[in-house]
Amino acid sequence: MREPGFETLCAHAGEDPQRFSGAVIPPIFQNSLFVAPDVESFLVRGHRHPDAYDYTRVANPTTDILEAKLAALERTEAARCFASGMAAAVAAILHGVRAGDHVVAVETAYGPTRNFLSGYLERFQVAVTFVEGSDPQQFADALRPNTRVFYLESPSSMVFHLQDFAAVTGMARERGILTIADNSWASPYFQNPTALGVDLVLHSATKYLGGHSDIVAGVVAGPKERLRAIKDQEGSLLGSILDPFAAWLMLRGLRTLPIRMERHQSSALTIARYLEAHPRVARVHHPGLPSHPQHALARRQLRGTSGLFSVEFAERDQRRAFAMINRLRYFGLGVSWGGFESLIVPMLFPSGNWGARLHIGLETVEDLQEDLENALKG
Ligand code: PLP
Repeated sequence: MREPGFETLCAHAGEDPQRFSGAVIPPIFQNSLFVAPDVESFLVRGHRHPDAYDYTRVANPTTDILEAKLAALERTEAARCFASGMAAAVAAILHGVRAGDHVVAVETAYGPTRNFLSGYLERFQVAVTFVEGSDPQQFADALRPNTRVFYLESPSSMVFHLQDFAAVTGMARERGILTIADNSWASPYFQNPTALGVDLVLHSATKYLGGHSDIVAGVVAGPKERLRAIKDQEGSLLGSILDPFAAWLMLRGLRTLPIRMERHQSSALTIARYLEAHPRVARVHHPGLPSHPQHALARRQLRGTSGLFSVEFAERDQRRAFAMINRLRYFGLGVSWGGFESLIVPMLFPSGNWGARLHIGLETVEDLQEDLENALKG
């Protein structure tokens, strides 16, 4: 029998309708507490039964279904959900470090994750070296005897730099270094970093996994032993668990992840190609375009590309750049991404050009192209 495909896993992994009177959608266990029928099942040799539900900060049946599905999608043994992508990133990093350790991280990682690594962890005598990351040798050059973690984000979400997972994780494994990768941009539909040697993969599930801009959530996925430790330590002690209602909404989002990602991919490529040929555009940064400096690695490492990329206008005048953005009708001016809607964030590029990060949503692509055409005309 063949292994179930990604779409089948989205529909069925972790689910058993017969547990819930045949309900095709599992209930939301919106309760903090579970009570036991008798003391014998409450306590086993003086301790709480390890497999029993007792408190939602520790485990909840709705969240368990979601975690089983996410582990199946990331091709890992286990997954743990968190109250945000930041909570997931912090949990994964804290799992890997002790006082006196050193981390090598990509400099284009999500800003608050960078701030946690460089600012917050300093309090606990954890040092960090940031590398550009496109050449694995940069990781080798940054190594110290106390390096314990490589923190990766590929493609990174503002400038879309990639790291070669196989090369970087091979080097890490030889030295007992934990590798962590933020996979929010690609989603598990287009990339499974653990298949290329990454130990722990994390997501801002606020983005594509939720997909509807109605939850803030995170996930860490990886081997059973590590996830058991993360659940007991960073999960339970720091307490930033996912609320069961948000878990249920993410389950709903995951059922359509493959078809959403296909549409994000095709519309984003259509718009990126259109912009690249436009006379008022200097450059488009999209790993799916042959003009991207790491296009060959993107083709090798990713099964596809998502809806987020950036564009440099041939425009140094801030006022004129902002006027173009203000003329847009369908693109919301907003920081997040991964939902059904198209979004734009203005950016000043190192070249001195103004431009924007675009998220291409699920609207009719001709409407989005016309919207950009009108904006660029003025
Ligand atoms: N990782 C990436 C790449 C992100 O873009 C974000 C948020 O924008 C995060 C992590 C943090 O996720 P959250 O906002 O869900 O805490």
